[in-house]
Amino acid sequence: DSITVAELAEQLQVSSTEIIKKLMSLGIMATLNQSLDVETVELVALEFDVTVEVKSEEEEKVDELDFDDKPEDLKPRSPVVTVLGHVDHGKTTLLDSIRNTKVTTGEAGGITQHIGAYQVRANENKITFIDTPGHAAFTAMRARGAQVTDIAILVVAADDGVMPQTVEAINHVKAAGVPIIVAVNKIDRPTANVDKIKQEMANYNLVPEEWGGDTVFAEVSALKGEGIDNLLEMIVLVSEMQELKANPNALASGTVIESKLDKGRGPVATVLIRRGTLHVGDSIASGTAYGKVRAMINDKGKNIKKAKPSTPVEILGLSEAPQAGESFRVMENDKTARNLAQQKLNKDKNELMQNNSAVSLDDLFKSIQEGEIKDLNIIVKADVQGSCEAIKHSLEKLSDEKVNVKVIHTGVGAVNENDVMLASASSAIIIGFNVRPDTSAQKTAKKDGVDLRLYRIIYDAIEDVKKAMQGLLEPEY
Ligand code: GDP
Repeated sequence: DSITVAELAEQLQVSSTEIIKKLMSLGIMATLNQSLDVETVELVALEFDVTVEVKSEEEEKVDELDFDDKPEDLKPRSPVVTVLGHVDHGKTTLLDSIRNTKVTTGEAGGITQHIGAYQVRANENKITFIDTPGHAAFTAMRARGAQVTDIAILVVAADDGVMPQTVEAINHVKAAGVPIIVAVNKIDRPTANVDKIKQEMANYNLVPEEWGGDTVFAEVSALKGEGIDNLLEMIVLVSEMQELKANPNALASGTVIESKLDKGRGPVATVLIRRGTLHVGDSIASGTAYGKVRAMINDKGKNIKKAKPSTPVEILGLSEAPQAGESFRVMENDKTARNLAQQKLNKDKNELMQNNSAVSLDDLFKSIQEGEIKDLNIIVKADVQGSCEAIKHSLEKLSDEKVNVKVIHTGVGAVNENDVMLASASSAIIIGFNVRPDTSAQKTAKKDGVDLRLYRIIYDAIEDVKKAMQGLLEPEY
């Protein structure tokens, strides 16, 4: 893992001469084809305001895996569907109704298991439904970078109409760029008014085809099981337009959609395969979890040996329960899987440490003793400029050989969110004198662990900092 001067120049989109000049300024004489080590590359890149990301062997492998599908390797896969809509409009009933009419009667074998997703057959096609309705789960997954949904079913009760969560769902789904099918539910109700729903939906650019739009509407009664087959047909139709494909002949990768720690079985994760085929015995990594797939159970409660793209399966054998929305992937062997998980763990730790660099007066003494801090950064907000100056002056005088007290910012007025962000970014504490924080500042301070202290008497503020430096401060409760 090294790079030549010429290659670096190309990556940074500057001339080789510029790179060589920078290297010279760093005291390094280099030729065009000379290999540079990681530290040197980082130094040079910094000069061009670029930060270098060094990838481990395992991570490089992962990148390669993601790009090497040829068009001829891609095979059609079934769509993954999420059901969204306002509370009480019938999402859960619809999911149950589809499962009950299709899974138990349609296919051989056992009782359906709630594993977080299920697959049904609609004629020759299969459809995968995510079993957790609502946009909270949908968006939580997206926040982790997982887009598992191919089609969103927006459920609207025909006797009610477009409600706040309907609108929220529309916005979330549109933001994700996922096609919407509107399921107008509860058509069995005497007060059902399908036309009214269509009109309201048109206001959100969901215009039915018969009105010249391109949104598919399906009328259903989830409770009575009416219109379910038609809805499934519509899903197949919309998915065919998407031409969903995946390479089934690859090491499997995908997304965790649910996980739990089971008393008898240990960590259990339901995963949705997006690419490749997952086999019992595969070595997998998911976030900080890793392990060999000991067993796979499908949504019918059956043990299976392999699972193809768009199939949800419960897997056993992981070292811990990974988070929903986390990706998983099969690695060549146990060792590389464990390494990848270990690297993730280290990254998380580093991030945690960076986030935890918040300083507080309560543990100031300990931090000083452990050599963790040399500067005590303080932000002072006060009601008048005179107080700011007085406090700043007195605080900075407290500096001793172990710690340097630095007031990095002063200002007149309430403690605001900018103050807190500054404090968070520079590991500072905030002292407010005769002022109060506004609500957003208060919230952010709490979230980021910023120590924010309010005083009415200058002497008290100075005394607290002094005591904290000596480890004599009484903790605040
Ligand atoms: P969710 O909050 O969107 O998951 O809604 P539920 O599935 O829990 O349904 C809310 C209520 O509406 C329940 O009492 C259901 O029995 C009822 N419900 C759902 N679908 C229908 C339907 O098609 N017709 C009628 N009449 N009631 C329904």
